[in-house]
Amino acid sequence: MQMWNPWHGCHKISAGCKHCYVYREDAAFGTSVPTHEVRKTASFNLPLKRDRNKNWKFPAGFSFALCFTSDFLIEEADGWRGRIWEIIRQRSDCTFFFFTKRIERLCRCLPSDWGDGYGNVAIGCTVENQDRADYRMPIFLSMPIRHRLVVVAPMLEKIDLSRYLNADAIEEVSVGGESGKYARALDFGWVMDMRRQCDAAGVPFCFHQTGSYLIKDGRQYHIPREHQHSQARKAGLNTAGR
Ligand code: SF4
Repeated sequence: MQMWNPWHGCHKISAGCKHCYVYREDAAFGTSVPTHEVRKTASFNLPLKRDRNKNWKFPAGFSFALCFTSDFLIEEADGWRGRIWEIIRQRSDCTFFFFTKRIERLCRCLPSDWGDGYGNVAIGCTVENQDRADYRMPIFLSMPIRHRLVVVAPMLEKIDLSRYLNADAIEEVSVGGESGKYARALDFGWVMDMRRQCDAAGVPFCFHQTGSYLIKDGRQYHIPREHQHSQARKAGLNTAGR
């Protein structure tokens, strides 16, 4: 899997953005341009790079994680996105996925030949609380998308997704906590409850990371950054990929 960030920068739009890691990392690196200013990066054409023998640098079958330091559907990138769709079409031998908190913008951002979706593109709708789930999920389910993922991260409260979960429409629900010094704690009971909802609907489930603070059996644990993914895996809740 390869990160592909054709633009960098974002502005906060909902509760899940409060401690956004893009802002945190920019502050840590002392970046000169403010994080809320969206700009193109040197990686704009990354999937088209070739090696010295003129072969693709990223061969057929590669998977690209798109826009992890911005939002693929952010307004400021409206003039650039058309070229990204062209690249995705040109590299139909690779797969691409992005997560968004702006799913309501998807229809106006799609290429004219999108039809019911490109087979090599998966789109994840992020929901962090019940309010955003009830706003974004009906929009998400109404859009023409071939591969749908739901990303419950950072999970800020117990969320009921049961009325939206449908194994024919959603390929995976992935849950994660919030990282960083000021992270809001994740209650393991909320994670278990989401797993139960997924089981009832037959939707694969993944607990991808604990976040910095995990509450379990009434006790709060601090999980160092380097253990947040492995600790989540150790919980043994994952049914995705089986
Ligand atoms: S949408 Fe994502 S990248 Fe943008 S501010 Fe929110 S958390 Fe950060």
